[in-house]
Amino acid sequence: MMKPLISVVVPAYNEEAVLGAFHARMSALFDELADYRCEMIFVNDGSRDRTQAIIDELCALDSRVACVNLSRNFGKEIAMTAGFDHAKGDAVIVIDADLQDPPELIHDFIREWRAGYDIVYAKRTHRDGETWLKKATASAFYKVMDKVSGKVKIPRDVGDYRLMSRRSVDALLQLREQHRFMKGLFAWVGFPSKAIEYRRDPRAAGETKFNYWKLWNFALEGITSFTIAPLKLATYLGLLTALLAFADGIWIIAKTLIWGDAVRGYPTLMVTVLFLGGVQLFFIGVLGEYLGRIFGETKQRPLYFVQGHTPSGSSKQSE
Ligand code: UDP
Ligand code: MG
Repeated sequence: MMKPLISVVVPAYNEEAVLGAFHARMSALFDELADYRCEMIFVNDGSRDRTQAIIDELCALDSRVACVNLSRNFGKEIAMTAGFDHAKGDAVIVIDADLQDPPELIHDFIREWRAGYDIVYAKRTHRDGETWLKKATASAFYKVMDKVSGKVKIPRDVGDYRLMSRRSVDALLQLREQHRFMKGLFAWVGFPSKAIEYRRDPRAAGETKFNYWKLWNFALEGITSFTIAPLKLATYLGLLTALLAFADGIWIIAKTLIWGDAVRGYPTLMVTVLFLGGVQLFFIGVLGEYLGRIFGETKQRPLYFVQGHTPSGSSKQSE
């Protein structure tokens, strides 16, 4: 009988500095997995450095290496999706190219998968080499997501590094939305899941691709593509202000009828106008965020284009 196939998907964007080391460590791990056939699928997400050249070399050297070369930079979320689309494994693992996710954890992933879990994800206990600001903002983000995401629970401090069974990958691949908040999509498909704790290492080489502006947009994407909590907030805040305004109106009418009115109240008027104007502008912005996303989805474009694809060859383990 054929041994089960493990596909490892590796999104790579300008990772020339680290790919060699990554391949060495991953293939050492593959050698230890004697009971499985393994492939690593690099997804070149429109890199502008030598990433593709290095991947081509690796493909030529090692038949377990496959490559999907996207037509431009689409972002990590879509790069991962492209990898999942091309992965044929009975289990599919996604891992960063920068060795921040220790490949050795894959042993534990596989053990839990064999024990019957569909999704085995890595939960960070430490985040070495990251600034306190990044840790604090990440923590705030998880808190907010937890509050607003309702039935679908997105686990804290869990990145994309995980193993997925064939059926959970197939489920995930049915979700073809443009705005792909992967942490949300992973959680949305459900299936029995298990966390494995680990220490997140600093990057082995090269630089992070996510600055604070990108992370902010990522958080915004997470919230708006995954929940309608901000719209609900608008409804309740609007309702509350309307009620208060109504009560205040009655009070003003009563007051004028009883005591008459000497024109004053500039501060009250100003405060009310500015407050209402601010709240309205803010929620027009919120509506705009949703409208923009609906606009994106209605175009129904394919998620990505591929300019080159090298499947993994017949590996020496494949008999
Ligand atoms: N990545 C990608 N496309 C992008 C940005 C990042 O494929 O547009 C990949 C990158 O090559 C790496 C992974 O996503 O393998 C995580 O990126 P990074 O290490 O920069 O993120 P961080 O660990 O700092 O959150
Ligand atoms: Mg990283």
